[in-house]
Amino acid sequence: AKAAARSDEPVPASAALFARASAVTPGGVNSPVRAFRSVGGTPRFMRSGRGPHITDADGNTYVDLVGSWGPMILGHANPAVLEAVSAAAARGLSFGTPGEGEVALAEAIVDRVPGVDRVRLVSSGTEATMSAIRLARGFTGRPKIVKFAGCYHGHVDALLASAGSGVATFALPDSAGVTASTTAEVIVLPYNDLDAVRAAFAEHPGQIAAIITESAAANMGVVPPRPGFNAGLARIAHDDGALFIMDEVMTGFRVSRAGWYGHERSVETSVSAVGTADQPWVPDLFTFGKVIGGGLPVGAFGGRADVMAMLAPNGPVYQAGTLSGNPIATAAGLANLTGCTADVYAHLDRTAGTVGDLVDRALDEAGVPHRLQRAGNLFSVFFTDAEVPDYDAARTQSTAAFAAFFHGMLEAGVYLPPSAFEAWFVSAAHDDAALQTIADALPGAARKAAQ
Ligand code: PLP
Repeated sequence: AKAAARSDEPVPASAALFARASAVTPGGVNSPVRAFRSVGGTPRFMRSGRGPHITDADGNTYVDLVGSWGPMILGHANPAVLEAVSAAAARGLSFGTPGEGEVALAEAIVDRVPGVDRVRLVSSGTEATMSAIRLARGFTGRPKIVKFAGCYHGHVDALLASAGSGVATFALPDSAGVTASTTAEVIVLPYNDLDAVRAAFAEHPGQIAAIITESAAANMGVVPPRPGFNAGLARIAHDDGALFIMDEVMTGFRVSRAGWYGHERSVETSVSAVGTADQPWVPDLFTFGKVIGGGLPVGAFGGRADVMAMLAPNGPVYQAGTLSGNPIATAAGLANLTGCTADVYAHLDRTAGTVGDLVDRALDEAGVPHRLQRAGNLFSVFFTDAEVPDYDAARTQSTAAFAAFFHGMLEAGVYLPPSAFEAWFVSAAHDDAALQTIADALPGAARKAAQ
């Protein structure tokens, strides 16, 4: 049945589009969290964006704290990115041959991330993680993969076991359609728990191909790794001959020029807290996406030259893509990366700090139990009292309080992720005026969350 736009509908154009969409697309959306199911109400159909703002089909403009879930790190319709896209498009859209743009993007990635000797481009983060685990299994000749509950690595069948993001939003323990045999070789452990990882390796020596982890978990809300957690994972994996895969699809080129790993390594080297400066731990494989596409579909996986040498056409692990390394997408990605200067990262850190502090203060003043958690310039708020170190803790939050808060912000012109289990994203374009809109929206939204 077609949903009719209600007469009191505050966003009639979005409601009409949602009715049309629902008639031809499951749930009216092409990715589940967009549907507003966990916060209720009509999803806003966006028509345009500029800088920190997005504008919906009814002409409402919002300060955007989603940023297309990460890629729009420079803000919407960034002139340099648009210019690169137009110039590339004028030369033709796709050739299915090698081209210079993909070489330049691969060079930019290898140049920025220590530990990435070779990189292969794909068209989404999901393809990147799917290919990375295939490669890890091919390289080691082992079947099993360790992942963490609440970590989302895209909708790869095998990795949909206790995943975060939309899976968390809809409280799905798993996905229907993923067979038991597909996940039988996947061991799901609690995040931030090295003892559980040691126990898994003790139980399955020589059987685990790789540990895959979000470099900082940000798909169950933001849950930073405890100091030494990532280093410990690398050590446990390497002691057993397994690979360590860092999923930097969200954190890559966002939390620093070198992503989370580069950021963590520079902190460790300066305090010598973990490992030694002359022998730092290094992930064997990384996965990337989001920022490296500038808003167009790009993903990548890369790492150690000897591991990457196993990929076709050099080696026996098959991996391919009609649109991999697409010239428009790689041009957008390269322009996005080039725009991410030291000043931009300083601005992102400052802006994330300010927004987080404003949220914290507004919820304090309204007496709403909450916990603001940060991982670099990624952050989110949990409507709960206690620290959130893992997925079990994340799930104790009040999603009803979040929904009330979300709608309070939306009505006041701020677009938050429509789920309590997602990170918030700031951009280089979030200026003082955008911060003021957020500051003005917060007290009312916090009072709604208190009810
Ligand atoms: N890995 C992480 C850490 C992600 O956050 C995501 C997407 O949100 C993915 C993988 C999947 O990327 P994509 O949605 O481009 O397939």
